[in-house]
Amino acid sequence: MAPNDNFDLIVIGCGPAGEKAGAQAAYFGKRVAVIERAPHMGGSCINTGTVPSKTLRESALYFSGLKQRGLYGIDYSLKENLSVQDFMHHERAVVEMERQRILKNLELHHIELVRGQANFEDAHRVAVTGTNGTRQLRGEIILIATGSKPHRPPEIAFDDIHTFDSDTFLQLKRIPKSLAVIGGGVIGCEYASIFVALGVEVTLVDGRDRLLPFLDAEISERLGDRFTALGMRFLFNERPVKVENSSSGVRLSMKSGKVLETEAALFAAGRRAAVDGLALEKAGLAINDRGYVPVDDNYRTSAPNIYAVGDVIGFPALASTSMEQGRVAVCHAFGFQYKQRVASMLPMGIYTIPEISAAGETEESCKEKKIDYCVGRAHYENNARGHIMGDTAGMVKLIFARADRKLLGVSVIGESATELIHVGLMALDAGKSIDEFIQQVFNYPTLSEMYKYAAYDGLGNLAGHKLREG
Ligand SMILES: Cc1cc2nc3c(=O)[nH]c(=O)nc-3n(C[C@H](O)[C@H](O)[C@H](O)COP(=O)(O)OP(=O)(O)OC[C@H]3O[C@@H](n4cnc5c(N)ncnc54)[C@H](O)[C@@H]3O)c2cc1C
Repeated sequence: MAPNDNFDLIVIGCGPAGEKAGAQAAYFGKRVAVIERAPHMGGSCINTGTVPSKTLRESALYFSGLKQRGLYGIDYSLKENLSVQDFMHHERAVVEMERQRILKNLELHHIELVRGQANFEDAHRVAVTGTNGTRQLRGEIILIATGSKPHRPPEIAFDDIHTFDSDTFLQLKRIPKSLAVIGGGVIGCEYASIFVALGVEVTLVDGRDRLLPFLDAEISERLGDRFTALGMRFLFNERPVKVENSSSGVRLSMKSGKVLETEAALFAAGRRAAVDGLALEKAGLAINDRGYVPVDDNYRTSAPNIYAVGDVIGFPALASTSMEQGRVAVCHAFGFQYKQRVASMLPMGIYTIPEISAAGETEESCKEKKIDYCVGRAHYENNARGHIMGDTAGMVKLIFARADRKLLGVSVIGESATELIHVGLMALDAGKSIDEFIQQVFNYPTLSEMYKYAAYDGLGNLAGHKLREG
């Protein structure tokens, strides 16, 4: 093996987990190779999932005029003759910018990018097969960051013309008149709300009886109300048992006997580790019964020099956590006295219309854990910035301990929820009480000052009387 095929760290996969892990190790002087089989860097985060769907959301809000409706009382309909090309223009620009940014980041850190499909030869050696043949690399440490792929139930005939999964959905040739979304998880709810905002007839099908049951029930109910107001229809406690192409698109026969006919169907029914062709067994590794690569608290697999991070290890399978896991894993592998753990308090960002974000406890989790809690709320309708922005339906909800007013959880629904949550997240992580929000001066007019009014409301609720909000 030539000396230049020897690396301190080999990273397999250049999604958010692989990119950040490689950069962290290179920053501390390690010789790093990143292997990527796809033509573009960024994994599902940049190319098919996170960034495309979030950019599409902005385009949907713009083209549907949804934001302007609240502000100017004008009911814009979707721009006449809007093509998918128009609609995707912004998405393509953002995705391309991100792909270039990643290439520059690898270059800046002197990381060698090796293009091709990686497979293990043994616990230290990886073969990379690309257009120029196969190259053998050796790594002291190897990091698996190969991500995930959508679960495709075998009984569903995906044709990527009418019936899509979450990786192929944005390949649709035109905006359909009607859409069935099967699976009311985060990805299903996000796409369902984006398309209903565009005036598409959307039916959301889910096997449970409530949207996003891990959220605070009050927030999930509000989300359901807003979806209904946008015109979404729901089939709860349902699942399709037969899916066939019809003259107008797709016909879905439900377990209850109902039949749903739509122009397109999106199956957003979970994901699995992408380990195809990786030959894990040659490194002495195997996936667990949930279909993921098992790791310990330091992201180390059962092979002492092999780590795994990101979607390939399963929950929470977010770009945000994948990046941090990557950094923490290489710090552990090389003994860098830097990042020792991923923060225990994780924010959850859901880019539905309206947006949702949450961290810490919910009312339901407090009840389950028998925590004596109290609640404080502030509403966008009483907030000047909310009115300026045209969102008067949102809410900030604080959950805190009755005994010492320590903040236990925050949920936000409404415009900029995924940004707003960070104020609460820092307070939660620092173990602050809600009094902290009352002491601070917030910019005016901002949505953030709702933390102060939610805290006032909480104190009022604690004292058994209602203080005026505002
Ligand atoms: C529709 C959708 C919306 C989402 N929205 C959000 C969101 O709003 N916020 C959020 O935090 N997360 C979101 N996610 C999740 C997020 O995209 C993933 O958690 C994240 O991309 C995982 O990063 P990763 O690096 O582990 O894997 P990936 O991004 O999947 O990257 C893995 C890379 O490894 C490469 N690879 C795989 N096998 C090999 C091999 N054998 N050899 C060489 N290369 C290989 C792949 O080509 C790929 O480039 C969303 C996901 C989807 C599908």
